Amino acid sequence: MPLPPDLHVHTEWSWDAPNGHMERSCERALEIGLPAIAFTEHADWALVHEGQHAVGRARFRNLRILTGVELGEPHWFPKESAAVLAGGRLDRVHGSIHCIRLDGEFLDASQFRQREGLDFPAAVRSYLRESLAMVDSGQPFETLAHLDYPKRYWVDGAAPYSEADYEEEIRAILASCARTSRVLEVNTTRGHTLCPDIAVVRWWYEAGGKAVQYGSDAHQPDKVGEGFAAATKMVEAAGFKPAADPTALWRR
Ligand SMILES: [Zn+2]
Ligand SMILES: [Zn+2]
Repeated sequence: MPLPPDLHVHTEWSWDAPNGHMERSCERALEIGLPAIAFTEHADWALVHEGQHAVGRARFRNLRILTGVELGEPHWFPKESAAVLAGGRLDRVHGSIHCIRLDGEFLDASQFRQREGLDFPAAVRSYLRESLAMVDSGQPFETLAHLDYPKRYWVDGAAPYSEADYEEEIRAILASCARTSRVLEVNTTRGHTLCPDIAVVRWWYEAGGKAVQYGSDAHQPDKVGEGFAAATKMVEAAGFKPAADPTALWRR
Protein backbone atom coordinates (compact mmCIF):
# COMPACT_ATOMS: atom_id res chain seq x y z
CA MET A 1 0.00 0.00 0.00
CA PRO A 2 1.47 3.40 -0.93
CA LEU A 3 1.99 5.78 1.96
CA PRO A 4 -0.41 8.71 2.36
CA PRO A 5 0.64 12.38 2.28
CA ASP A 6 2.36 13.81 5.35
CA LEU A 7 0.16 16.82 6.06
CA HIS A 8 1.79 18.06 9.25
CA VAL A 9 5.45 18.99 8.92
CA HIS A 10 7.43 21.82 10.51
CA THR A 11 10.57 23.41 9.12
CA GLU A 12 13.07 26.09 10.06
CA TRP A 13 10.15 28.53 9.82
CA SER A 14 8.62 27.16 13.04
CA TRP A 15 9.88 28.66 16.30
CA ASP A 16 10.46 25.22 17.86
CA ALA A 17 12.16 23.55 14.88
CA PRO A 18 15.74 24.87 14.68
CA ASN A 19 16.76 21.63 12.93
CA GLY A 20 13.96 21.83 10.41
CA HIS A 21 14.77 22.16 6.71
CA MET A 22 12.16 22.59 4.02
CA GLU A 23 14.10 21.35 1.02
CA ARG A 24 15.59 18.38 2.83
CA SER A 25 12.10 17.48 4.08
CA CYS A 26 10.93 17.36 0.46
CA GLU A 27 13.92 15.18 -0.45
CA ARG A 28 13.12 12.85 2.41
CA ALA A 29 9.46 12.65 1.36
CA LEU A 30 10.47 11.60 -2.16
CA GLU A 31 13.00 9.11 -0.80
CA ILE A 32 10.38 7.25 1.24
CA GLY A 33 7.74 7.50 -1.48
CA LEU A 34 5.27 10.02 -0.09
CA PRO A 35 2.90 11.46 -2.71
CA ALA A 36 2.55 14.86 -1.00
CA ILE A 37 3.75 16.91 1.93
CA ALA A 38 2.23 19.93 3.69
CA PHE A 39 4.25 22.47 5.63
CA THR A 40 2.15 23.56 8.57
CA GLU A 41 4.26 25.98 10.55
CA HIS A 42 3.19 27.05 14.00
CA ALA A 43 1.11 30.16 14.49
CA ASP A 44 1.10 30.36 18.30
CA TRP A 45 0.16 33.25 20.49
CA ALA A 46 -0.29 31.71 23.95
CA LEU A 47 3.40 31.19 24.67
CA VAL A 48 5.30 32.51 21.70
CA HIS A 49 4.14 35.40 19.59
CA GLU A 50 5.45 34.22 16.30
CA GLY A 51 3.96 32.59 13.25
CA GLN A 52 4.94 31.89 9.68
CA HIS A 53 3.54 29.86 6.91
CA ALA A 54 5.53 28.21 4.24
CA VAL A 55 5.45 28.11 0.49
CA GLY A 56 6.49 25.07 -1.55
CA ARG A 57 9.32 25.02 -4.03
CA ALA A 58 9.09 24.18 -7.72
CA ARG A 59 12.10 21.82 -7.72
CA PHE A 60 10.20 18.72 -6.64
CA ARG A 61 8.10 17.73 -9.63
CA ASN A 62 7.02 14.32 -8.32
CA LEU A 63 5.96 15.58 -4.94
CA ARG A 64 2.86 17.63 -4.35
CA ILE A 65 3.85 20.41 -1.97
CA LEU A 66 1.02 21.95 -0.01
CA THR A 67 0.93 25.08 2.08
CA GLY A 68 -0.54 25.11 5.54
CA VAL A 69 -0.51 26.37 9.06
CA GLU A 70 -1.00 24.96 12.55
CA LEU A 71 -3.07 27.47 14.48
CA GLY A 72 -2.50 27.19 18.25
CA GLU A 73 -5.62 27.93 20.31
CA PRO A 74 -7.27 29.98 17.51
CA HIS A 75 -10.43 30.50 19.61
CA TRP A 76 -8.36 32.52 22.12
CA PHE A 77 -6.81 34.57 19.33
CA PRO A 78 -9.45 35.03 16.65
CA LYS A 79 -8.03 38.31 15.31
CA GLU A 80 -4.51 36.99 15.06
CA SER A 81 -5.75 33.77 13.40
CA ALA A 82 -7.80 35.74 10.87
CA ALA A 83 -4.73 37.84 10.05
CA VAL A 84 -2.65 34.71 9.32
CA LEU A 85 -5.40 33.24 7.15
CA ALA A 86 -5.82 36.50 5.27
CA GLY A 87 -2.16 36.34 4.24
CA GLY A 88 -2.82 33.98 1.34
CA ARG A 89 -4.62 30.80 0.39
CA LEU A 90 -3.49 27.77 2.40
CA ASP A 91 -4.16 24.15 1.47
CA ARG A 92 -4.24 22.77 5.02
CA VAL A 93 -5.31 24.61 8.18
CA HIS A 94 -4.91 22.72 11.45
CA GLY A 95 -6.43 23.70 14.76
CA SER A 96 -4.40 22.63 17.79
CA ILE A 97 -4.60 22.88 21.51
CA HIS A 98 -1.20 22.86 23.19
CA CYS A 99 -1.98 24.90 26.32
CA ILE A 100 -4.53 25.02 29.07
CA ARG A 101 -5.21 27.93 31.38
CA LEU A 102 -4.11 27.15 34.91
CA ASP A 103 -3.98 29.59 37.82
CA GLY A 104 -4.18 32.53 35.47
CA GLU A 105 -1.38 31.44 33.15
CA PHE A 106 -0.91 29.31 30.07
CA LEU A 107 0.56 25.87 30.61
CA ASP A 108 1.63 23.72 27.65
CA ALA A 109 0.70 20.05 28.09
CA SER A 110 4.34 19.15 27.41
CA GLN A 111 5.08 20.86 30.74
CA PHE A 112 2.42 19.06 32.81
CA ARG A 113 4.90 16.58 34.23
CA GLN A 114 7.23 19.34 35.39
CA ARG A 115 4.47 20.97 37.42
CA GLU A 116 4.63 19.68 40.97
CA GLY A 117 1.35 18.55 42.50
CA LEU A 118 -0.59 18.85 39.24
CA ASP A 119 -3.77 16.77 39.14
CA PHE A 120 -2.93 15.07 35.84
CA PRO A 121 -6.35 13.63 34.93
CA ALA A 122 -7.94 17.01 35.73
CA ALA A 123 -5.40 18.75 33.51
CA VAL A 124 -6.16 16.32 30.67
CA ARG A 125 -9.89 17.02 31.11
CA SER A 126 -9.17 20.72 30.96
CA TYR A 127 -7.18 20.12 27.75
CA LEU A 128 -10.09 18.18 26.21
CA ARG A 129 -12.61 20.86 27.28
CA GLU A 130 -10.43 23.43 25.54
CA SER A 131 -10.36 21.25 22.41
CA LEU A 132 -14.16 21.10 22.39
CA ALA A 133 -14.36 24.87 22.87
CA MET A 134 -11.99 25.37 19.93
CA VAL A 135 -14.03 23.11 17.63
CA ASP A 136 -17.31 24.70 18.78
CA SER A 137 -15.91 28.21 18.33
CA GLY A 138 -16.46 28.20 14.58
CA GLN A 139 -12.83 29.12 13.93
CA PRO A 140 -12.03 28.32 10.28
CA PHE A 141 -9.65 25.39 10.61
CA GLU A 142 -10.32 22.16 8.78
CA THR A 143 -8.32 19.59 10.71
CA LEU A 144 -8.26 18.81 14.41
CA ALA A 145 -4.59 18.04 15.09
CA HIS A 146 -3.25 15.64 17.76
CA LEU A 147 -6.48 15.25 19.74
CA ASP A 148 -4.81 13.62 22.75
CA TYR A 149 -1.54 15.58 22.77
CA PRO A 150 -1.02 15.33 26.60
CA LYS A 151 -0.56 11.58 26.13
CA ARG A 152 2.81 12.28 24.52
CA TYR A 153 4.12 13.70 27.75
CA TRP A 154 2.59 11.28 30.24
CA VAL A 155 4.04 11.26 33.76
CA ASP A 156 6.34 8.41 34.69
CA GLY A 157 4.83 6.29 37.39
CA ALA A 158 1.23 7.45 36.80
CA ALA A 159 -1.43 4.98 35.73
CA PRO A 160 -1.09 4.61 31.94
CA TYR A 161 -3.17 6.81 29.65
CA SER A 162 -6.42 5.15 28.64
CA GLU A 163 -8.89 6.60 26.14
CA ALA A 164 -11.71 4.92 28.09
CA ASP A 165 -11.04 7.25 31.06
CA TYR A 166 -11.91 10.26 28.87
CA GLU A 167 -14.45 8.64 26.56
CA GLU A 168 -17.27 11.10 27.23
CA GLU A 169 -15.08 14.15 26.64
CA ILE A 170 -13.43 12.69 23.53
CA ARG A 171 -16.73 11.58 21.99
CA ALA A 172 -18.14 15.08 22.50
CA ILE A 173 -15.18 16.54 20.57
CA LEU A 174 -15.60 13.99 17.78
CA ALA A 175 -19.34 14.65 17.50
CA SER A 176 -18.66 18.36 17.19
CA CYS A 177 -15.97 17.71 14.55
CA ALA A 178 -18.34 15.50 12.57
CA ARG A 179 -21.10 18.13 12.77
CA THR A 180 -18.74 20.78 11.44
CA SER A 181 -17.29 18.54 8.68
CA ARG A 182 -13.82 18.60 10.07
CA VAL A 183 -11.02 16.13 9.42
CA LEU A 184 -9.41 14.09 12.19
CA GLU A 185 -5.64 13.98 12.14
CA VAL A 186 -3.77 10.85 13.14
CA ASN A 187 -0.54 12.37 14.35
CA THR A 188 2.29 9.84 14.54
CA THR A 189 4.48 12.04 16.75
CA ARG A 190 7.56 11.41 14.60
CA GLY A 191 7.08 7.65 14.96
CA HIS A 192 6.73 7.22 18.73
CA THR A 193 3.05 7.77 19.67
CA LEU A 194 -0.18 7.58 17.70
CA CYS A 195 -2.29 10.63 18.61
CA PRO A 196 -5.01 9.40 18.61
CA ASP A 197 -4.91 5.61 18.62
CA ILE A 198 -7.44 3.08 17.33
CA ALA A 199 -10.10 3.44 20.06
CA VAL A 200 -10.60 7.10 19.16
CA VAL A 201 -10.48 6.51 15.39
CA ARG A 202 -13.22 3.90 15.86
CA TRP A 203 -15.28 6.45 17.82
CA TRP A 204 -14.66 8.89 14.98
CA TYR A 205 -16.11 6.37 12.54
CA GLU A 206 -19.12 5.83 14.83
CA ALA A 207 -19.63 9.59 15.12
CA GLY A 208 -19.99 9.75 11.33
CA GLY A 209 -16.56 11.31 10.80
CA LYS A 210 -15.87 11.52 7.09
CA ALA A 211 -12.12 11.78 6.74
CA VAL A 212 -8.77 11.10 8.35
CA GLN A 213 -5.42 12.59 7.49
CA TYR A 214 -1.89 11.76 8.61
CA GLY A 215 0.80 13.95 10.04
CA SER A 216 4.22 13.03 11.39
CA ASP A 217 4.62 16.39 13.16
CA ALA A 218 8.24 16.15 12.04
CA HIS A 219 10.43 19.02 13.24
CA GLN A 220 13.42 17.80 11.21
CA PRO A 221 13.69 16.17 7.77
CA ASP A 222 14.53 12.60 8.84
CA LYS A 223 11.21 12.34 10.73
CA VAL A 224 8.94 13.04 7.76
CA GLY A 225 6.47 10.17 7.32
CA GLU A 226 7.72 8.35 10.45
CA GLY A 227 5.19 5.88 11.86
CA PHE A 228 2.94 5.93 8.80
CA ALA A 229 3.10 2.17 8.15
CA ALA A 230 1.57 1.42 11.57
CA ALA A 231 -0.81 4.38 11.41
CA THR A 232 -2.31 3.40 8.06
CA LYS A 233 -2.91 -0.17 9.25
CA MET A 234 -4.62 1.15 12.37
CA VAL A 235 -6.82 3.59 10.47
CA GLU A 236 -7.82 0.93 7.96
CA ALA A 237 -8.80 -1.39 10.81
CA ALA A 238 -11.04 1.40 12.12
CA GLY A 239 -12.94 1.51 8.81
CA PHE A 240 -11.34 4.27 6.72
CA LYS A 241 -9.94 3.63 3.25
CA PRO A 242 -7.30 5.16 1.02
CA ALA A 243 -8.59 7.20 -1.91
CA ALA A 244 -7.78 6.33 -5.52
CA ASP A 245 -5.83 9.60 -5.66
CA PRO A 246 -2.81 8.99 -3.39
CA THR A 247 -2.66 12.68 -2.46
CA ALA A 248 -6.26 12.68 -1.14
CA LEU A 249 -7.52 12.17 2.40
CA TRP A 250 -8.68 8.77 3.60
CA ARG A 251 -12.44 8.44 3.82
CA ARG A 252 -14.98 5.99 5.19
ZN1 LIG B 1 0.97 20.84 17.63
ZN1 LIG C 1 2.88 20.50 14.86
